Amino acid sequence: MTTYSLAAVEPPAASKAPPAPYLSIVVPIYNEEESIPYLYERLTAALDPMGRPYEIICVDDGSRDRSFALLHDLAVSDGRLRVVRFRRNFGQTAGFAAGFDRARGEWVVTIDADLQNDPNDIPAMLTKAEQGFDVVSGWRARRQDAFINRRLPSIIANRMISWATGVHLHDYGCSLKVYRAEVVKNIDLYGELHRFIPAIASWQGVAVAEMPVNHEARKYGKSKYGISRTTRVLLDLITVRFLLSYSTRPMQVFGAIGLISSFVGGLLLLYLAYVRLVMLQNIGDRPLLLAAVLMVLIGVQFLGMGLLGELITRVYYEGRDRPIYVVREELNPGTG
Ligand code: UDP
Ligand code: MG
Repeated sequence: MTTYSLAAVEPPAASKAPPAPYLSIVVPIYNEEESIPYLYERLTAALDPMGRPYEIICVDDGSRDRSFALLHDLAVSDGRLRVVRFRRNFGQTAGFAAGFDRARGEWVVTIDADLQNDPNDIPAMLTKAEQGFDVVSGWRARRQDAFINRRLPSIIANRMISWATGVHLHDYGCSLKVYRAEVVKNIDLYGELHRFIPAIASWQGVAVAEMPVNHEARKYGKSKYGISRTTRVLLDLITVRFLLSYSTRPMQVFGAIGLISSFVGGLLLLYLAYVRLVMLQNIGDRPLLLAAVLMVLIGVQFLGMGLLGELITRVYYEGRDRPIYVVREELNPGTG
């Protein structure tokens, strides 16, 4: 009935267009030529039986192999496959961001192209989300990656992220996640912040659920990351923690430290002045003098940093629309 009344008011050209997608699948792709045919096959095989209109947004993150050519051929025969091609490699986070910017569905699903995630997990995750969650995050309970350089750092990082962000998940790094569209549309992504989306989204007050999902060893191609990712994730964690708690009031944080430090340093200097001028003792070789001077200097620096932080915060909240990627071409760009 609804479709009938909608069709009646729409111009004829629009009535031929496919129905607005309910689901948008976002897939970042960097040199995954061997996986792409299977990815497309397995995604459609998992999504078709759900009977919901969907779109698959593949973001070719500057691949140097045949990934784009393969996606191009698939997109010609299937209008539900949309392809965004970056000018160069901007990183997985930018890939997600481009997909989120274009997603038209009510729900957005992120999944890796390498088939380490199983598209067959999507229907159950969506059902869970529809029961009243804004984010359903996959948990690779039986993760198929090497222990020492992949799983161990990941366990430690997950514990730290959980502790620092207050959003408690077992597995932040799993790409397979389902989001309510508003959640990802309201987030500014940059750096390698994609694994913190649930934490950043918690600021919006979202309900987050976690679900065990399948995980397979990578069959084709190579992982794009090594052990160095661990440090980058830890640094990002500090950023997120700061953004979550103090981003709008840097002066409160740095200023407080600065005031305390200068105040204590100032008292010590007064005491030293008393020792020198009244008690007429030598203070030139006292470690306390060094400590007092340092504290005053550090205090002034912190106050300055707080002020700079305040200025930068204002710039940050004003200049939000800077893109973190550059698009070379788009296939099946859709209308919305
Ligand atoms: N990826 C990307 N841009 C990059 C690095 C990775 O789009 O700069 C994609 C990659 O093609 C894959 C996903 O991000 O679909 C996850 O990458 P990978 O499998 O290498 O990570 P891992 O599973 O080893 O953590
Ligand atoms: Mg992978």
